[in-house]
Amino acid sequence: MECESSRLPRAARAWLSRRVEPTRFVTDASLGFIARRLRFLGYDVASHPGARLEELFEVAARDGRVVLTLSGRHPRKWANAAAIQLPRGDAAAAVRRIVEGHAPAGAPFSRCPHCNVALRPRTAFEAVGEVPARVARSGGPLTSCPGCGRWYWLGSHVARIAEWLGAATGKPVALPQARPDGNAPA
Ligand SMILES: [Zn+2]
Repeated sequence: MECESSRLPRAARAWLSRRVEPTRFVTDASLGFIARRLRFLGYDVASHPGARLEELFEVAARDGRVVLTLSGRHPRKWANAAAIQLPRGDAAAAVRRIVEGHAPAGAPFSRCPHCNVALRPRTAFEAVGEVPARVARSGGPLTSCPGCGRWYWLGSHVARIAEWLGAATGKPVALPQARPDGNAPA
């Protein structure tokens, strides 16, 4: 069966594939806040907290990632590794810069902001004892991180972050929806 995209002209297909190819990043602790904000938006941002700049470039070259850094230095040895120098002291401008030029790896609120692992959708039944009872009963989407074990749900904290991200990027951020088969209360 012919798929939809194969009927598009070659140039349109090239444009489409370029647009949807997610960019994966690597950074250190100096951009921890921005890394977490980008993960909330669905970006894959690996963190190496104590790494020297050279080590970040080494990871970027090895894993096909782009270095996010406050530094303007680009070691000659890693000339082929891509890097983006972000503005110091303006997190909103930094996040906007990434969003305008790069596609995320997934939907907003689909990655753990702390460890960059893709979150698992969970049911209200699985959440008993893990989240406040009113949250489990609410029928909203529930996820947990296979890396650190944290649970996530829609609350005022998420609403505040979504608002910050919307203001920073100039686009409203879609909140996750409950799965039709999943998190509704029994
Ligand atoms: Zn985690």
